[in-house]
Amino acid sequence: MPELPEVETVMRGLRRVLDGRMIRAASVARPDLRWPFPPGLALRLTGARVAGFRRRGKYMLMRLSGGDSVLIHLGMSGRMVARRAEDRPNAPVAHEHLAIETEEGVRVGFVDPRRFGSVDLVPTAAEDAHRLLAGLGPEPLEDSFTSEVLTAALAGKHTPIKAALLDQKVVAGLGNIYVSEALFRAGISPKRLAASVAGARALRLVPAIKAVLEESIEAGGSSLRDYVQADGGIGFFQERFKVYDREGQPCDRCPGVPPCAGIRRIVQAGRATFHCPRTQR
Ligand SMILES: [Zn+2]
Repeated sequence: MPELPEVETVMRGLRRVLDGRMIRAASVARPDLRWPFPPGLALRLTGARVAGFRRRGKYMLMRLSGGDSVLIHLGMSGRMVARRAEDRPNAPVAHEHLAIETEEGVRVGFVDPRRFGSVDLVPTAAEDAHRLLAGLGPEPLEDSFTSEVLTAALAGKHTPIKAALLDQKVVAGLGNIYVSEALFRAGISPKRLAASVAGARALRLVPAIKAVLEESIEAGGSSLRDYVQADGGIGFFQERFKVYDREGQPCDRCPGVPPCAGIRRIVQAGRATFHCPRTQR
């Protein structure tokens, strides 16, 4: 599932393709994804100009000239695919459920085989009051996300820190991958009680969260030409991780002798966590 860095990379790609453009046509191919599309979606998109973009957690907001914002969540398998008219095959694109076309003839489709994604409309002036955004915790890359803020959010939480950081009310945008990476970087065991992550540990964890997210966003931007992949997919890139999906391999933080016993995979609340038991306490 795309997490904050992937969503940020997709949003930057959409901005490149769509910002300031007039939407000449829009179409929906089915009534719903995870939830029904808002009534009249295609009609309300048609003729609007794209006025800007914003990301909030794992959500993207595409602001329209008429005062609406399109709220997009990629779900498990959602992608945005851009094609110029001359590059498009005549056959319809599989699993393209929503598409808009700019005056310049660029078609941007929301492609989502598993349909856990969602699209909604919300007045731009009231974006943060939308039911999906209203309960979100702080944006981890903003300066206001500090160790004090995190410590306060974790106080009294009797769950493992891994689970607490997946809770979008504690901090917005993290998922399974970047929680594993941030805890590894901070030297904190994923099994540690959330409420006990305070003081020096919180002071290490907040910069670790910011660093793994920033580095991944950077890697996405530099590895994708114009944020668009060869097949038209916009954004979405995952760099190589230090612990995620690396069970059994030595980590790069253990001192040489004796060598790292290997990154371990455990399952917490049904989800895989990767960590080095020696350096993460
Ligand atoms: Zn190790």
